Amino acid sequence: MKVTIDRDECTSCGSCWSVCDAVFEEDDDGISQIAAKYRVGGDPGTGEVPEDLRDCVQEAADSCPVEIIHVEG
Ligand code: SF4
Repeated sequence: MKVTIDRDECTSCGSCWSVCDAVFEEDDDGISQIAAKYRVGGDPGTGEVPEDLRDCVQEAADSCPVEIIHVEG
């Protein structure tokens, strides 16, 4: 599945990486990014994540207070 984070709107709340640290991590500025192994095209806000992590990703998306984590596919 494709996962994107609208990083410009991230409030650094930490929910996503608390809920799903396999996919989401905090960058040096405290903004959420996709873990390097799942990143697409070197963009920290875009990833292709295997199906077995769907529940984890969805839980993180649901936990985001500003709803900027998007799951497609
Ligand atoms: S849950 Fe949303 S606002 Fe919070 S750190 Fe993650 S992407 Fe940013």
